[in-house]
Amino acid sequence: MTWQFTAPNGTDVVGPLEVASDDRLVVKLRSTTPADPTCPHCGARRFKNGTRIVRFRDIPAAGGQPVVIEWLRQKFICGICHRSSHDQHAAFDRRRDMTARFVEWVGKEAAERGFTAVAKQTSVNPKVARRAFRDTEKRLARDVGLLSDAIAIEPIDLAGSKRPAIIDAKEEFVFEAYASVDEMRARLPAFASEYSHRHEHPIVVTDLSFVLETEVPPAIHDDLFGPTAVRAVSRISLEREATDRIWMACESLLRRKQPDKDSWRFVRALFARRQSSVKTIARRQLMAWKKMEPELYAAYELKEDFLNIWQPEAGASVKGRLDAWVQRIVKQPVLHLEALAAAIAAHREQILAFYRYDFLVGFYEELNEITSLDENRTARSFSAARATLLARGLAQEKTKLANLIERHAEILKGER
Ligand SMILES: [Zn+2]
Repeated sequence: MTWQFTAPNGTDVVGPLEVASDDRLVVKLRSTTPADPTCPHCGARRFKNGTRIVRFRDIPAAGGQPVVIEWLRQKFICGICHRSSHDQHAAFDRRRDMTARFVEWVGKEAAERGFTAVAKQTSVNPKVARRAFRDTEKRLARDVGLLSDAIAIEPIDLAGSKRPAIIDAKEEFVFEAYASVDEMRARLPAFASEYSHRHEHPIVVTDLSFVLETEVPPAIHDDLFGPTAVRAVSRISLEREATDRIWMACESLLRRKQPDKDSWRFVRALFARRQSSVKTIARRQLMAWKKMEPELYAAYELKEDFLNIWQPEAGASVKGRLDAWVQRIVKQPVLHLEALAAAIAAHREQILAFYRYDFLVGFYEELNEITSLDENRTARSFSAARATLLARGLAQEKTKLANLIERHAEILKGER
């Protein structure tokens, strides 16, 4: 067996690891952190008064055996009020007979595997497992200080729905996920004010649908992150919005021509294809559109030209090509794309801002991988899915930080 017990920070192992009759591993620890000499009852000075063994459940061994820690806990007696008290330690949960790291472990495991499975494996009461999970859940998405100066707010697939999420665009991890757009509306302002306090010129990329003014005010106002933030609209969302709206224009056109037909599924499939990837049959169909359905073909070309605006080999600037394209759709007589032109004009600055940051292209290519959980776990609840995703990001950041500190320590050692 290669498993080795690691003592929690601020404690030391005293004596050998023992195996109890019920297969539990028992470890004796003492605190290495100086105890507070103040009496918790009256604030006067207290004095050492022997020790007492207190048992705490700890994270199971690699083989799954339960681990019990026996803490030789210092007792005290007060010189003034004569009441007794005992040492407190961050490694040991004050309210439970469990180590702090065991509570955290139960919470994470419960998010992964469910309360019942964890309760069964550890013989911890399912209610306790559930509470441990809630505690872990509450602590997540708190440390805004972990975030870099570039974040994206995008809808991601989580527990069966699209949910708005805050993702660090440089460190590439999910920081927060909201159950719905309404929940984001309610909670984002507090986050935005804390985040913009910590960064002077943060880059905040959002999905176009979050900033569009529809019947309701936008979910994310332009000034939410303060006047110095650079706001941008993600290319992925802009392309989706433009393609959808051009298609809707086609559909109403087709409906007028053939009112009895109820599905345009195949037409839509062809409309969605990129010109660069169509094979012979599809190309022939497109050519047939050009002759028989010139409006449909014009719409297809508009869509293709829009998607080509961002190709680097295009020569002219993205700005010039975008403006020229908007001019074209305004003049287009049949499709009625004025609303799309207005939406693009209203968010032109944010659309163009996206193209000033090269790292965003790579980030959006990775977005699916950053935000997805194991496919066979899609049945879990939103809060469990959120906790798993956020805990993963947090663990990733903590490892990075630990590596950084280690490297720094090596450098300092070398300099000595
Ligand atoms: Zn006292």
